[in-house]
Amino acid sequence: MKTIVGGGLAGLIAAHAWPQATVLEAAQAPAPSHRALLRFRSDAVARLTGIEFKKVRVNKGIWFDGSFIGPNIRAANLYSQKVLGSVGDRSIWNLDAVDRYIAPPDFYEQLIQSVGSRIMWGVQADFHGMHNKPFVSTAPMPVALGNLRRDTFLPPGIPEFKRKGIRVRRWELKDANVFQTVYYPEHVTTLYRASITGNTLIAEFADMPTAPINPSEQYGLHEIERSFGIDLGRAKELERVDQKFGKIEPIPDDLRKEIMFWMTQTCGIYSLGRFATWRNILLDDVVSDIDVIKRLARRSTNYDLRKA
Ligand SMILES: Cc1cc2nc3c(=O)[nH]c(=O)nc-3n(C[C@H](O)[C@H](O)[C@H](O)COP(=O)(O)OP(=O)(O)OC[C@H]3O[C@@H](n4cnc5c(N)ncnc54)[C@H](O)[C@@H]3O)c2cc1C
Repeated sequence: MKTIVGGGLAGLIAAHAWPQATVLEAAQAPAPSHRALLRFRSDAVARLTGIEFKKVRVNKGIWFDGSFIGPNIRAANLYSQKVLGSVGDRSIWNLDAVDRYIAPPDFYEQLIQSVGSRIMWGVQADFHGMHNKPFVSTAPMPVALGNLRRDTFLPPGIPEFKRKGIRVRRWELKDANVFQTVYYPEHVTTLYRASITGNTLIAEFADMPTAPINPSEQYGLHEIERSFGIDLGRAKELERVDQKFGKIEPIPDDLRKEIMFWMTQTCGIYSLGRFATWRNILLDDVVSDIDVIKRLARRSTNYDLRKA
């Protein structure tokens, strides 16, 4: 593979799997797009990129109506509606302590450095003009389709791609070194999850409010203090960012695969990453998807592509 479109985390990880590939990134300069909590289920990304991760044990809890509760149907459904806007299965069913891998805080910067001059900044890839050579795209599926729509055939039933923006706030805590996550299913606040990673507290809100003072968010901060037993007044706020592509709402799986198949078959585009494949995956899955793409690219008959 000679070209990777997109220099986000998926594109930069992919650049380690295809060490000769050029990365085309639309942004003019490096800017980390992921500010929410970042944990990995395995060390697959660490092994591929050569960046050392730390293995930690994470404790989890659900905070509801002023106390910790066990998982139940009401909490799970409220949480899912808050995060995705629909009732579906989310991870709050399992509260067992889990082993996770943590990337260093400058993970993105380290990736940028190791991919180096292979990244071409400020290049808006024209998908239509790249048809003669296969390439990997990490650009969001609706962006890729929009780019191709100009004069190419599109499969029928292109769906509406719905996504929800999120707000992420970070603090540095004094004298903390724990790995904990609390879920907040109640709709009285937009806060849905808060996590402490070492001494960094990350709070995620299911909204990008426009008003400067947001009572629902304010209430969430109060709930963080009560659930974690900490005083945010003693913490240093590091940043407050809004992420336009937060959670994505799934589209029917058959259609999703049909779109990806069509893009590969007619345009030589191999989709990689959460937004390109339009499914709520973690970056561990990107590594296994890279293996699938390598296999498909080697023997890309229609039959093989359809099986993927
Ligand atoms: C709240 C939240 C929590 C998460 N938690 C975790 C976690 O704990 N662990 C984990 O592994 N993952 C997690 N994720 C997922 C992870 O954030 C994403 O998988 C990852 O950030 C997506 O990166 P990406 O490179 O696929 O997409 P993006 O970051 O969107 O990168 C795509 C890039 O393509 C560029 N682009 C688009 N169109 C073009 C074009 N035509 N030409 C050139 N460039 C173009 C864009 O500028 C962009 O830089 C989480 C996500 C969210 C929202």
